[in-house]
Amino acid sequence: MEIEFLGGTSEIGRSAVLVNGSLLLDFGMSTDNPPRLPVGDPDPEAVVVSHGHLDHAGAVPALLSGDSRPPIHWTPPTRELTTTLARDTLKLHGGSYRCPFTEAELQRLTQVSREHGYRETFEAAGHEVTLFDAGHIPGSAHVLVDDGDARLLYTGDFHTDDQRLVSRTTARPDVDVVVCESTYSDVQHDDRAGVEERFVRSVETTLWEGGTVVVPAFAIGRTQEMLLICEAYDVPCYVDGMGQGVTEMLRRHPTFVRDPDALRRAKSHARFVTGRDGQRRRIADQGAAIVTTSGMLTGGPAMTYVPEIRTNPTNKLTFTGYQVEGTPGRELLETGRTEIDGRIMPVSARIESYDFSAHADREGLLGFLSTYEKTTLLVNHGDRCGAFAAELCEDGYDARAPGLGETITVPSTPARR
Ligand SMILES: [Zn+2]
Repeated sequence: MEIEFLGGTSEIGRSAVLVNGSLLLDFGMSTDNPPRLPVGDPDPEAVVVSHGHLDHAGAVPALLSGDSRPPIHWTPPTRELTTTLARDTLKLHGGSYRCPFTEAELQRLTQVSREHGYRETFEAAGHEVTLFDAGHIPGSAHVLVDDGDARLLYTGDFHTDDQRLVSRTTARPDVDVVVCESTYSDVQHDDRAGVEERFVRSVETTLWEGGTVVVPAFAIGRTQEMLLICEAYDVPCYVDGMGQGVTEMLRRHPTFVRDPDALRRAKSHARFVTGRDGQRRRIADQGAAIVTTSGMLTGGPAMTYVPEIRTNPTNKLTFTGYQVEGTPGRELLETGRTEIDGRIMPVSARIESYDFSAHADREGLLGFLSTYEKTTLLVNHGDRCGAFAAELCEDGYDARAPGLGETITVPSTPARR
């Protein structure tokens, strides 16, 4: 088996792995402007998408240019999320050289889409492929690929602890090689229940004081997780931005969420913001919690709320995930000021950050990999892949971190020859 790394090596963004020159796993893009795509200009026979996040699925429509029509295999939520993200990309970049695909290419997704549930084996470009629940976001999958000689597990993004929205990964199929994400290879998450309680106490305190809390959250996964928490603790909240549509969509796929009933309650508990007639300004004055995109203040309705609430120190801004370097969110966390619409804005509202990660931490990764002591490990999707691979080698694993464009050959298993 030949595994070619076209992106996502020693970085988070533009994930893509080509197996045996014909089966492409993921085709993501970076969040830079202009976005960066995987290298190598692949023309695969078939594609499997692990989950509907920009860095794994963002550039998928670009594979449908010219006469290329490879079938695209995924779970139903991943298809919907990929389509939602692609529409957003067209809105942001459409018509400019920055846009990796056209409206026509996006339209073709429906012709080539092949939907699968978890643990249903299917054929793709001459390989046997099975998806397993990865516990990251609804529809997220580990991808098992069998080419008759060797078996590969491509982990995609995964979580080894339960979240309110999705349950943890449990599948550990027997394989010859694992391509493993390593986003949090040097981080230990705090206990989730403790993080929830601190978050809720902080939001409630601000609301009692008459302040407003802006809760920037990613549209996919995080927004729904925050709504579930607000419902569970009876914190009054609004929801705004792309996370609204995603919440409605997930209600149509109850088998891909942990507790469909809880999601239904969370959706009716939250008040949806239409943004009509200055509604956002009124809400910002009202003493409420507002869960809104974008999670790192790179756009979305959050950009309306932050200027509205920033001057009053009773108000609060609570980040719900990691802030990537160079984003307004990171700048605000580090300096207490950020640039919005070309204006530098100092923020007197209190700023806090909570780790509601959807990825395994170091302990989770090591626990997952302990099943694969005799297996070749290829570490990707992180900013310290080489260091993590070296640490795994010290622990007796056969691990390495492939470089961008590198091809790894996996010998066939003797028992299978
Ligand atoms: Zn992801």
